[in-house]
Amino acid sequence: MNLKQKVAVVTGASRGIGRAIALELARRGTRVVVNYHRSAEAAEDVVEAIKKAGGEAIAVQADVSDFEQAGQLIKTAIDTYGQIDILVNNAGTTRDQLLMLMKEQDWDDVIRINLKSVFNCCKAAARPMVKKRQGRIINITSVVGITGQAGQSNYAASKAGIIGFTKSLAKEIGPRHITVNCIAPGFIPTDLTMGQPEEWKEQIIEATPLRRMGQPEEIAYAVAFLASDEAAFITGEVLSVDGGLIT
Ligand code: NAP
Repeated sequence: MNLKQKVAVVTGASRGIGRAIALELARRGTRVVVNYHRSAEAAEDVVEAIKKAGGEAIAVQADVSDFEQAGQLIKTAIDTYGQIDILVNNAGTTRDQLLMLMKEQDWDDVIRINLKSVFNCCKAAARPMVKKRQGRIINITSVVGITGQAGQSNYAASKAGIIGFTKSLAKEIGPRHITVNCIAPGFIPTDLTMGQPEEWKEQIIEATPLRRMGQPEEIAYAVAFLASDEAAFITGEVLSVDGGLIT
């Protein structure tokens, strides 16, 4: 898979799955814009790790749920590296609560951070990609966006929204040779999931045919595939990387 000299923006790349995606793309020769919101030090660590391994990367602070800041992030990538070939919309969060107890703010925050951010970044990246008649957009949804989950109606709605958005955009910009796909991770140990009760984690592992959690790197490998030339005929798809959890 030849990803050499491509330029990727990975949102929420300071920690967890985004970090693994940034490292994997860089390992394959892609120049990476490591976006972060609050974790400046962690983002710099990712950049350092990439540079130490001989790659190229910069860290760029932006709250991607903000339209202007997301636009500025994409502009910085183009100003720095002259192009954008790959956009990975990975930034995300949870505010888990049963609907009866969910505050309006919990709903608004999750929809804004998980879903509006995808609109914001795609809106900024689509035009330069269309101009070049090439590009890869990979949106990180979740198996929860497909199955639903008690206590996660806001999160599931945001992730299901990403799937509908992805399929629509794939149809709009497919004629310009740009692919738009989703990856739906199963249970991956990161800061996002590690706060969940042990019992819940055990239940998920039990329900997963491969009887284990996935690793952030295993999501990154799928991203690298969808970003590659070999995946040029795949668009509007949702690839579950979940150990068989929702099959
Ligand atoms: P994580 O460890 O909590 O990391 C979240 C990342 O998103 C951080 O880098 C954070 O940046 C960034 N972020 C949050 N809000 C942001 C904003 N407004 N602007 C820019 N960046 C922002 O989470 P994760 O588990 O790696 O999750 C990554 C993605 O995978 C999410 O979309 C999540 O929904 C999805 N996912 C995860 C799992 C799982 O089991 N872990 C399963 C399915 C789907 P800062 O720290 O710099 O603020």
